[in-house]
Amino acid sequence: MVTVQIKLWGVVQGVGFRPFISRLAAGYGLKGWVLNEGGNVRIEVSGAKETVESFINDITAKKPGPAEIVHMELERKEYIEYDSFRIIESSEGGDDIVFIPADLSICKSCTEELFDEADRRHLHPFISCMICGPRYSIFDRVPYDRHNTSMVDFPMCEFCNGQYTYIEDRRYHAQTISCHDCGPYLIYNSSSEPQEQVREAALERAVAELKDGKIVAVKGVGGYHLVCSPFRTEAVDRLRQLKGREEKPFAVMFYDAGQLSSYCYVSEQEKTVLESKERPIVLLRRREHELSQEQISQSVYRSSMYLGAFLPYTPLQYLILKETGPLIMTSANISDQPIIKDDCEILSLAGQSELLAGVLYNKRDIRISIDDSVVKCIDDSVQITRRSRGYAPLPVYIKGTEIDKSKQILACGGQLKNTFCLTKGNFAYPSQYIGDMENEQTLELYRENLERMKSLLRIEPKLVCCDLHPDYPTTRLAESLGMEVIKVQHHYAHIASVMAEKGLYEDVIGISFDGTGYGEDGRIWGGEFLICSPKGYRRAGHLRYIPMLGGDTSIKEAWKSAMAYMYSAGAESEIKDGRWHLIKSALANKINTIDSSSMGRHFDAVSSILDIGHFANYEGECAIKLENEALLHALANKAADTKPYRYETVKVNGCYEIDTSAMIRQILSDKLSGADIGYVSYRFHLTVAEFTAGLCRILREENRINKVALSGGVFQNSILFEMLLKMLREAGFEVHYNTMVPANDGGISLGQAFVGMNV
Ligand code: ZN
Ligand code: ZN
Ligand code: FE
Repeated sequence: MVTVQIKLWGVVQGVGFRPFISRLAAGYGLKGWVLNEGGNVRIEVSGAKETVESFINDITAKKPGPAEIVHMELERKEYIEYDSFRIIESSEGGDDIVFIPADLSICKSCTEELFDEADRRHLHPFISCMICGPRYSIFDRVPYDRHNTSMVDFPMCEFCNGQYTYIEDRRYHAQTISCHDCGPYLIYNSSSEPQEQVREAALERAVAELKDGKIVAVKGVGGYHLVCSPFRTEAVDRLRQLKGREEKPFAVMFYDAGQLSSYCYVSEQEKTVLESKERPIVLLRRREHELSQEQISQSVYRSSMYLGAFLPYTPLQYLILKETGPLIMTSANISDQPIIKDDCEILSLAGQSELLAGVLYNKRDIRISIDDSVVKCIDDSVQITRRSRGYAPLPVYIKGTEIDKSKQILACGGQLKNTFCLTKGNFAYPSQYIGDMENEQTLELYRENLERMKSLLRIEPKLVCCDLHPDYPTTRLAESLGMEVIKVQHHYAHIASVMAEKGLYEDVIGISFDGTGYGEDGRIWGGEFLICSPKGYRRAGHLRYIPMLGGDTSIKEAWKSAMAYMYSAGAESEIKDGRWHLIKSALANKINTIDSSSMGRHFDAVSSILDIGHFANYEGECAIKLENEALLHALANKAADTKPYRYETVKVNGCYEIDTSAMIRQILSDKLSGADIGYVSYRFHLTVAEFTAGLCRILREENRINKVALSGGVFQNSILFEMLLKMLREAGFEVHYNTMVPANDGGISLGQAFVGMNV
């Protein structure tokens, strides 16, 4: 017989947690108690060892829907004989770690009631309960009570209040509940007519416009979506025009996984993620032949083999999709600015633009904008491309007994796909996705979010971490705060984000592959092999530097990278482009040139050499197209027996350099001899995996390190990622990668924070 005390951190209060524990203990015949302590839950149970172990496993496995256990601590105690299991009086204390629930998608019971004619909330677009509905996006302050959210504008009617106060009801103490009588209601505002419609008429009108191929703005959880049919090319093209400069594939919402499977391949794991309470956009491989009469327009996904797909997460989305079928639901933002959340802003846009037919909204305020999250299932795990709605602002627990419990840090993040991260003790809170820090609106959103999170989480940082790049706005912000500043090199921060997630304190071989980051030597890094510990890193290898044209736009111009690579590889004679003489004189005379070891630009160069992509409208576009070609080749079962291209790994001043000029020349000759583009693309991926695994083996021999951490945006490339994983595992390496924050620059802030925690 044993007695174990269990302490839980996370969203464990106000979600029916203690009654759940009490029932679970009763089911196992265990004795003891449970109590709320500060923001935590503490449990003590006595019983047979195996029974207690099963009980502990069930806490995470069977917890109530909206509960989130971020961290659990167990303490074995002297055996105590209890005669019952009781819920006891809450106590003060705890460690003042704040957990704010993330927004939750509509639950199964509410969805059933939504379509139940006999139910009082039949077709109520804002139906919710204890375990579903918006949370963080309507939050004003702790504690989480209705008057501390934007539901304060909608006092409960007698009926709702009755359920709210009846302990047996599934809406007992549910802060967001409402009905047709007391809740927010729908309003449709047409761009062309002054008269607005409300309630059922509003919904009907919006549905009619969508069926007619129009674009409607629909208010969601963390902001507005721009919505239209994915089947009508002219509508999709108008949507691109409305968003301005928008070239990225659009995400499509489907009514359910069954409908979705006509258009994409969906594994069991992907289905689980699609239907999870977070309801992220999941990148799925499209079916080459859709099993449906209506075909998704190519304008939706462009050249991508994947489709960003998701399921409804609000009652309103169910109501709309039931009538219309699949819909594009893309964040309502114009020209890379933040997503629009305020009614007046979207209404004024509708007033100005004929492209937008109308706005379907309601008067419940969104307090902070938050985009849809994006994930991908790979290697039996979930990789996050964008961590936002459904995940933020839940913290990541960083293992480590050495971490100072009182330390509070702000990590400012990088430049692209920015997030920041606040920490208190072992808990790190990455912000939601903010965006590229390139315009004043995004910077403003950053500052607003930072202030809001600091006050909600009661964190007052005394230490600030930022990137090494002198010109990033986030660096300037860090320097302006008047605190101690720690500058963390970009690629080390990528690896540190994996170390933070997985609690790695011993040395690792970090492989950090991305588009760009400021190096210690003032050059552009991005194809890096770093020996890392929480205390620092040593650069052990990198792609050979290639002189490239500097300047802001060069990074998007893959054709310039291609010329730089060909020139360096001694293949100048193969450059047929009329612009070459200009580029050459710049490179030869070192006018505005910069040395780069970026893996992202290597991918761009090859993409352009093969005439796949010459210009990137969004980050990584040319590399993504190159990956598509390789994937097509692999899917056609033509990849077996492919041999890597030639390359050289040489040691220069104690640091390895990988020289790929032989490969560039081989690629050119393959191309000249009319080889299949897919074959060359695949062979290029294979070569990168091969030299990466090869250098890892060398570094293992030299440094006696068997752990490898992979991070950086290049690892969003599934082909490379899977090839490399396989090679490293076959060579006996223990491989780690990001699963809680993005491998792209959205994960940088967590890595910076980890370095700060361990200073
Ligand atoms: Zn519900
Ligand atoms: Zn009501
Ligand atoms: Fe990066």
